[in-house]
Amino acid sequence: MYLESLTRRELEAVSRECVAVLPLGSCEQHGPHLAFGIDNLILRRLIEQVETRLSARALWLPVLPYAHSGRHRAYPGSVSVPIALYTEAAAAVLDSMAEAGFTKALLLNGQRGNEAPMEIVLRMLRDRRAGFAAAGVSYWNLLDKALDDGFVNHAGGLETSLALFLAPEHARMEYAVADGVQRASAYSAKTINYARVDQQSRGGGLGDPENASAELGKKAFHEAADRLAELINDLHDGLIAL
Ligand SMILES: [Zn+2]
Repeated sequence: MYLESLTRRELEAVSRECVAVLPLGSCEQHGPHLAFGIDNLILRRLIEQVETRLSARALWLPVLPYAHSGRHRAYPGSVSVPIALYTEAAAAVLDSMAEAGFTKALLLNGQRGNEAPMEIVLRMLRDRRAGFAAAGVSYWNLLDKALDDGFVNHAGGLETSLALFLAPEHARMEYAVADGVQRASAYSAKTINYARVDQQSRGGGLGDPENASAELGKKAFHEAADRLAELINDLHDGLIAL
């Protein structure tokens, strides 16, 4: 169910066991070849796909369309909300759901920069909402680990493949080049790196989109949708320790 499509009376009839899902999107540059809104688009399509299978177990909130995107600030048009404001806003959305009587929530993340803020939001909710169970997930973490970092990274193969499958008009493949993948230290994956993208990349990407395809996008999309439906069902049924 989509909150935006319900009337107040219809919402009153919705089970409070339903999982309130807040999708965390972004409006930020995605290298020379993907559109600013690709994260929001991927989230919306995933939600449409999963909604049909959940038989009223999820209450979808509108996608939060902006992120804390400070590392993209060298690229005009990338919208960045300061982190304190962003986390407070996201927590306030779920506070509203808690006040409406819902007891379970999921933050569904579509942008890597939202991972740290998402964790902060979960801690904020834990501290101020006893009895409210909230979890968070980034959709790419639902996929098989066969997808390595160079593929999953910003404007890399995964996002580009999803764009080619879901909305090819959002991808300009003639400009798609591998970028920002030169860091090869064995410690890259063990350290936290949140430097500005322009310090690591020539053109604003951080991955390799050159082998992206609609076929890979289709596989990843359906895999993510299958797992997301399972995750929401488990949250609904109280199977995940929170
Ligand atoms: Zn993205």
